[in-house]
Amino acid sequence: MTSQTAVEANVVFYDGTSNRKRRVALRLGDGLDIVENGTVVATWPFADIRRADGPAQKLRLSSVSALPLARLEIGDAATIDDVISRCASLEVGRHGAPQTRRIVLWSLAAACSIVAVTVYGIPLLADRLAPLIPFKVEQWIGHSVDTQVRAIFGGKTCTAPAGQAAFVALVDKLKVAGEIETPLDPQVISVSFPNAFALPGGKVYVTDTLLQRARNVDEVAGVVAHELGHVKHRDNLRKIIQNGGSSFLVGLLFGDVMGGTAVIFATRSLIDSSYSREAERDADSFAGEVMHKLGRSPKPMGEFLLRITGAQANRGITILASHPLSEDRLADLSKLDRPNTGGELLSSAEWQALKAICK
Ligand SMILES: [Zn+2]
Repeated sequence: MTSQTAVEANVVFYDGTSNRKRRVALRLGDGLDIVENGTVVATWPFADIRRADGPAQKLRLSSVSALPLARLEIGDAATIDDVISRCASLEVGRHGAPQTRRIVLWSLAAACSIVAVTVYGIPLLADRLAPLIPFKVEQWIGHSVDTQVRAIFGGKTCTAPAGQAAFVALVDKLKVAGEIETPLDPQVISVSFPNAFALPGGKVYVTDTLLQRARNVDEVAGVVAHELGHVKHRDNLRKIIQNGGSSFLVGLLFGDVMGGTAVIFATRSLIDSSYSREAERDADSFAGEVMHKLGRSPKPMGEFLLRITGAQANRGITILASHPLSEDRLADLSKLDRPNTGGELLSSAEWQALKAICK
């Protein structure tokens, strides 16, 4: 037995051929009749109806037998309950969707953070969890974080082919020397402040402004090698597990490498959420090792950092920042100074192409 219900309230139909909103009524009988001005314009069998992504308070539906972009949007709570009770296959196919998986992952990370705080103490759990996360999962997380990065930066990736080829060549040399086995996805983005950072899943970013302010390849190479240190140690993943995502992200975007001088006062809590001093020192020593393997000195990297941040010791801000002082980093990297025995990491043509990647 099926009851017939006519519903007038608050239903919008997109027929899948245009983005025109059509105000319709629903009639729930053997199937779901979509009624416009008293005429049935479509009937969706209940078995074909699926939940589609939509705003939280509304139920958005698609039908596997309708046009792919056809949607119904129901706002009335009673109607939503009624429709849901009749559509047995509403959730079919959703659990395999990447979108859902991503949400599940982020929820999992958030839940882990809470457990971590209450039961284990955060760093311990993050340290234990990060190595267990498969690279595929890390890539999903990275993709999701990357979407947020693009939202913050407006998404301008620089893609001049010669510049990109030079950047990939440089990162490859550092990757091989650093014995990083997971794939990397290096990109230059156009942003008005100097920074470099790495996201989970091997995404490595350098800003155009950083490139412009570098005097030679070794300065950039050292900074990238530092980021590869975070990749190798999975610092970014660990930090995301600790912080649940967004505060980590903002801290990293503005804070890594350069110590967050751009936003230091406004965002103390965010700066605190960039990596620990220990992780930063480890990344610097990793950069030192990588540069040595390539026969290059890591000292230019230290000089570069100091030149960009300026002296930090007397500015008071360093008490807040979790990064080591640029002065201290230069001192440490200077201890690793060696004569260059390897060739330049990029030819001068490649270097010029890299610097022009955003033009
Ligand atoms: Zn760092």
